Formats: sequence, structure tokens, C-alpha cells
Amino acid sequence: MRLVKLLANLGYGSRKEMQQAIRHGWVTDRQGNRLKADAKTPHEEILFDDEPLDPAQGVVILMNKPLGYTCSTKDQGRLVYDLLPDRFRMRKPVLSTIGRLDKETSGALLFTDDGTFLHKVIAPKSNVPKVYDITLDRPLKGDEAALFASGEMMLESEDKHLKPAELEVLGETQARLTLHEGRYHQVRRMFAATGNHVTVLSRSRIGALGLDGIEEGSWQELSEDGKALIF
Ligand code: URA
Repeated sequence: MRLVKLLANLGYGSRKEMQQAIRHGWVTDRQGNRLKADAKTPHEEILFDDEPLDPAQGVVILMNKPLGYTCSTKDQGRLVYDLLPDRFRMRKPVLSTIGRLDKETSGALLFTDDGTFLHKVIAPKSNVPKVYDITLDRPLKGDEAALFASGEMMLESEDKHLKPAELEVLGETQARLTLHEGRYHQVRRMFAATGNHVTVLSRSRIGALGLDGIEEGSWQELSEDGKALIF
């Protein structure tokens, strides 16, 4: 891809602005050589304004989402996109979240601009497990694990049984739940159906991918090995 188009697609500016940036010498290789518009320099060797280029198209990002942020591009209030560099909103193809977390849920949240990858993660046949750490308002009664594992649980106003889910009891009001699907407010609604209320909810893993080393509010680009941990 020509340099102007590459930079514009990464959100650095319009094609016209990128032509000017190249003319001004703001686009160089790592040795400081100015690049021309027809340069064939590998992505990882290119600097814009002395900074390495943003990740190439096909990026997958893992964020440790804090509480209070919405997984939307245009709601009022704080958005998960506010935690990424501004120009990520201008990327083409667009960067979207892979599934969503509620505003008051924290933890592992994936983003990608790769539609094929996105569909692979959410496709029912991929059966990617998602692990949630939960604090409840009231003590567990003891029959929740069997109910959640039964494959016969139905949520209010739905007509399809939930897939079996695994509940690990960690304390009177503490639990870890592994889901193999992602319905609207699923964890909260499952516990509401048992007469309980989720007070703290955090997603700690997607597949075998955890948040080690990623502080709340931070993110990392996933390597091929990181992506493979999801499946
Ligand atoms: N289940 C919920 O209730 N909320 C989330 O954010 C994710 C799963």
C-alpha cells in the first residue's frame, strides 16, 4: 500500500495532509532517512514524527477496561475509545470492540479492525470461554452451580435456553463463572434469576488470555501467540 494511503488509513490525517507530512520530512525510517510517497519500507521501520507507526491493519488489542466506561463510539460520558490514542477512531477499517462489557463491568475487552477475527471470536462454534469474577450482595444458596450447568436455564423475556456454564464458588458471596456465550447483561441476569444481585463484576479471562501486566485503563497489542490463547 502506498505510504499516503497507509498513513491516512491509520488515522494520522487526510491523504492531502499525509502528502504534506511526507513532503515536510515527518515520515522517516529508523535511521532518520526521509521516506518518499512510493517507499516500500516495512511498517515496523517507519516513524511518523519520530514515533513508531501505530499497529498495522489486522491489529487485535486487549484492554483492561475500568469501571465507568461505555463500550460505545458515541454515548455521552466516558467511552472505552477515550483510552486509546485519538487517531484510532479514524482508522480504516474501523476498530471495534469484540463483544461488550457493561459500563459497570471491568476487565478483559478485545478490539480489532479485522472482521474475520472478530467473527471467529464471537462465533458460537468457536465456543470461546469467558471467565467472570463476581461479588454478590447476598450469600450463595448452594444450588446455583447445578442450575447454571443444567443447560435448561431460561432468562426472562428469552425463548432459548442458556448454554451450560461453570460456577466455581470462592466464598459466601464470591464466585467465578465461565460462560460460553454472551447475552445481554448475562451474568447479572443469571444471578438475578436466583434472587441475588451482582455488586462487582470483572472479566478476568477470554479463552486462556488473561490481563497479566496490563494495568486498569491500559491496553496492549496482541502478538500472534497472544491471539492464539483465545481459542
Ligand atoms: N455479563 C454481564 O452481566 N455484564 C457484562 O458486562 C458481561 C457479562
